[in-house]
Amino acid sequence: MDIWRREDSIRRGDRTRMSLTKSDVYRKLEEKMLGYADYENITVISEEDEVGFIPVKSSAVLIVKPINTGATELTDGNVHLRSPVADRLYWAGQELRNLDKSLQLELVYGYRPLEVQRKLFDEAKEALANKYQDSQQLIEAAHRRIAVPDVAGHPTGGAVDVQILRDSVEVEMGTPIWDFSHDSYTFSPFVSRDAWMNRQLLRRAMMAAGFAPFDGEWWHFSYGDKEWARFYDQPGALYSQVAVADLPSRQDIAMLTEPR
Ligand SMILES: [Zn+2]
Repeated sequence: MDIWRREDSIRRGDRTRMSLTKSDVYRKLEEKMLGYADYENITVISEEDEVGFIPVKSSAVLIVKPINTGATELTDGNVHLRSPVADRLYWAGQELRNLDKSLQLELVYGYRPLEVQRKLFDEAKEALANKYQDSQQLIEAAHRRIAVPDVAGHPTGGAVDVQILRDSVEVEMGTPIWDFSHDSYTFSPFVSRDAWMNRQLLRRAMMAAGFAPFDGEWWHFSYGDKEWARFYDQPGALYSQVAVADLPSRQDIAMLTEPR
């Protein structure tokens, strides 16, 4: 076979492989992600509501820089977490630093009031309502955008959105944090090699500290919620969702911040 024909056949071969489109690959990744049906029967076995919420403070290994949302005033502009979850976040930050001294973990989001989760989920469902006739399918589709409130992680104070800083600058992750596109799937093969490596680095540090990853968003991890229970085959979740109305008063929160 002469070289030209061979090159031609290689090109044809490439075309055949490329007929698998980007959306085919993303559909395959979605099949591996857990949906609402995987969580709805998980119960909360160790209600640790006495485990308080604290506003997380920056340290040498953890920078707290809250994303401004419409509900920021409900949490006084802080990022609140269950206190054992905050402890694990410092461990994850330390793990990153042990791997590379120039790295820090940045926390941008944590507790979301249950009231806000309900509102966002209803909006997601409404936006998709005309695309799905089947109500179960509609719930699953809406859940992929905004978690169903009774299984959602952020309202438990156990879920976090984090990224990595190198010398105080965000490292390349392939998409900005909170970019709700398919490219944000942790295992997207359509991001740069650096972004892929940084996603794995974040996953490694967070899992080493006991967090469960969510493969639909490279920045989302949780401890003690239903996603965590399912990921680690735990008998149940540790924390239930809490409305801001049921949180300790702001004065109580302020007192909790003092000695850490
Ligand atoms: Zn999140």
